[in-house]
Amino acid sequence: MDNLLKSLKPTNRVVGRFAPSPTGPLHFGTLLAALGSYLLAKCSGGHWFLRIEDLDPPRVIPGSADAMLILLGQLGFEWDGEVAYQSNRYERYQQILEQLRSHGQVFDCSCTRREILASAPHPGEEGPIYPGTCRGGARGSRPECAVRLRVPDKTIQYCDRILGEQQQNLGKEIGDFVLHRVDGLFAYQLAVVVDDIDAGITQVVRGADLLSSTPRQIYLYQCLGVVSPDYFHLPLAFGYNGKKLSKRNGDIGLVTVENGSNMLWRALEFLGQSPPEELFNATPSKLLCWGLENFQVATIPTKNRQVKFK
Ligand SMILES: [Zn+2]
Repeated sequence: MDNLLKSLKPTNRVVGRFAPSPTGPLHFGTLLAALGSYLLAKCSGGHWFLRIEDLDPPRVIPGSADAMLILLGQLGFEWDGEVAYQSNRYERYQQILEQLRSHGQVFDCSCTRREILASAPHPGEEGPIYPGTCRGGARGSRPECAVRLRVPDKTIQYCDRILGEQQQNLGKEIGDFVLHRVDGLFAYQLAVVVDDIDAGITQVVRGADLLSSTPRQIYLYQCLGVVSPDYFHLPLAFGYNGKKLSKRNGDIGLVTVENGSNMLWRALEFLGQSPPEELFNATPSKLLCWGLENFQVATIPTKNRQVKFK
């Protein structure tokens, strides 16, 4: 009964979010996720929340979260409520981890990476598939433990709203995955699910590089007895060097106040919308207004593409 009640969405209102990592300046690839999630939430009168994914302190570049928020504001994005920061939420992640532990769904693992590599029969796309060594109790060679979620031999199926039917066998393709790392940091998979549940997120719009994380996240929702959101995975933008456009791969595609309008126009076009040529130099808020009035999910491309910036 408890689970049944939770599985009914409390309202019909769409709640979307944009959740960048503060690891550098705003980039075209990140702008696509901001724009896609914003338009999908706002064109149906929904809420759009912002969350800074600063879970991994060594990767955080000081000042980049603030710079990104200021720029998003200058580009006309309006978010609802307070900005959330993952670094403020460690206690909450710990609480959920203990909840999973009390139901026997997690276990301590003391294996080193080398031990896992040596015993994992087939390294998957996501690295070696954990062979289950510590399922019956940690028994590796070191005292510190990671905490892993016990994963059944189960196929997770869902319909991505852009890419269509997806499926992954968690046991065979992923294995028991880490929720709390041996270095004491919480894993992205746990944090993102707990954050989205607490914020009442009903739709997740993000780049297709996270597609293979989605079944793990859906399984976590199931473990926590909460219905998972709708997923929309956007195509990725590649530069002409064949590399994914990102802050790691150079300055091409950096978004600034000066080029913001052009970048928004290009982002609309990249997402399969048809912004009129005469809007190429329109103000960012005009472009967002056009997007809100004309946005079509059905025309978002399913394939990653190259983009050229002049
Ligand atoms: Zn282990």
